[in-house]
Amino acid sequence: NTGDIKILLLENVNQTGRDILLKQGYQVEFLKSSLPEDKLIEKIRDVHVIGIRSKTKLTANVLREAKNLIVIGCFCIGTNQVDLQYAADHGIAVFNSPFSNSRSVAELVIGEIIALARQLGDRSNELHQGIWNKVSKGCWEVRGKTLGIIGYGHIGSQLSVLAEAMGMSVIYYDIVNLMALGTSKQVPDLGVLLGEADFVTCHVPELPETQRMIGPKQFEQMRTGSYLINASRGSVVDIPALIDAMRTGKVAGAALDVYPNEPAGNGNYFHNDLNTWAEDLRSLKNLILTPHIGGSTEEAQSAIGIEVGEALVRYVNEGVTLGAVNMPEVNLRSLTLEDSDHIRVIFIHQNIPGVLRKVNEILGDHNVDKQMTDSRGDVAYLMADISNVDHNGVRELYEELESLNSCIKTRILY
Ligand code: NAD
Repeated sequence: NTGDIKILLLENVNQTGRDILLKQGYQVEFLKSSLPEDKLIEKIRDVHVIGIRSKTKLTANVLREAKNLIVIGCFCIGTNQVDLQYAADHGIAVFNSPFSNSRSVAELVIGEIIALARQLGDRSNELHQGIWNKVSKGCWEVRGKTLGIIGYGHIGSQLSVLAEAMGMSVIYYDIVNLMALGTSKQVPDLGVLLGEADFVTCHVPELPETQRMIGPKQFEQMRTGSYLINASRGSVVDIPALIDAMRTGKVAGAALDVYPNEPAGNGNYFHNDLNTWAEDLRSLKNLILTPHIGGSTEEAQSAIGIEVGEALVRYVNEGVTLGAVNMPEVNLRSLTLEDSDHIRVIFIHQNIPGVLRKVNEILGDHNVDKQMTDSRGDVAYLMADISNVDHNGVRELYEELESLNSCIKTRILY
C-alpha cells in the first residue's frame, strides 16, 4: 500500500521531486537542511526511502540503523556521500541523476568559447576598475574556427550541435567509436585533435586514464594561441602545466570550472593553502575561473528532481533498478490491469553458487510468468512475476525466501 511508505527528504530537495512522491500518496517528510548524525540516525530508523543531496553522509554507521530503508535517492550527480557497498550488501538501492545537467554544462562552455575569443573577462574586470581599454588585437570571431571536443558523451555531443550552429567546425576524440552529429568528425587520437583545434574542451569522466590527460606534452601539441576549457573534472588538466603554457603564450586563454581540491562550501577558499598554484592562476589574464557551476541552473535542478523522483517511484512500486549505481539493473514489463492476479517477487541475495536452484524450488510451486536475475559483485537481484497465489501463499512464499541463507532482502509487490 503506497500510503504506508514513509519518505524523508533532506537538504531542500527540488519541488519537482517532492511533487512526484506526494502524488503517489506516500507519507513525505520534507526538511530544508541536512541533519547531524545523531538526529539522522533517529529519523532514518523509521523510513523506507530517504532523499538527500551532497551534504548528508550516509555512512555504514548511519545505514546500520536504517532497518526499514529500501532505497536512497541522491538528488544530485555525485554519490560519494553514501557508502554504496554497505547499502548494496544490505539490499538498499541507490539512485542519482548523472545526466540531467548536460545541457547546462554545454551552454556554459559555449558562453566561455566566445568570452575567451573576445577576452570578455579581462575587459569587464578592467572597466570594473574604471579602466577603458578598447582593443581588437588577439580578439576573434568563433565562426570558422575549429572546436576540439575530448569525450563525446552527453555533454560533448550537445556541445557539438551548439558549436556548429555558430559556424564552428567540430572535431572530437573519444575512446569509443561514436556516430558524429551534424558535420563533426571523430579523429583517431588526441594528438591530432590538439594539433588542429583552435579551442580544446574536455568532457571525459574522472578515471585513472584521464588523470592529467592534458599535461606538458599535450600543451606542446596544441596550436599556438589556442584556448583550453575544462568543465569535466579537476584531475583532467595538469594546472602547473597550464600556467606555464599561458605564460609562454602557447595558450591564449582558458576557462576552468573544476579543480583538483574543491572546497566543501562557499567562502574565501581559493588560496595557496588549498592548492599551491591558486594564486598563480588568479594572476593570469584571459583566464575564466568559475566555482564548479557547469550544471548549476534552475532547469538542471528541476530535471534532477524529476529523474530521481521517478526512479524512486519505479523502485518502490515496481522494484525496477534501471539507473541504480550499486545494484544490477533489472527490469520487467510493468504489470497491467489484465495481470491483476499477479504478484511481483523481488529477492535480493548474495551472489553465491546454488541460490537460484533453491529460489526456483520455492517459486516453482506457482506459475512463474517472467523472471530476470542479474548480479553486480557480491549482490544479485531477482525479479519474478507469478500468478495464482492467494493471500496465504504470498505469506508462505515470503517466509520461505527470507529463510534462505543467501537472503539479503525480500519484497513482494502488488
Ligand atoms: P559521459 O559519460 O556521457 O561522456 C564521457 C565520454 O568520454 C564518453 O563518450 C567516453 O567514451 C569518453 N571517454 C572516456 N574515457 C576517455 C578517454 N580516456 N579518452 C577519450 N574519451 C574518453 O559524461 P558526460 O555526462 O558528458 O560528462 C563528462 C564530464 O563532465 C564528466 O567528468 C562529468 O563528471 C563532468 N561534469 C561536470 C559538470 C560541471 O558542473 N562542471 C556537470 C556535469 C558533468
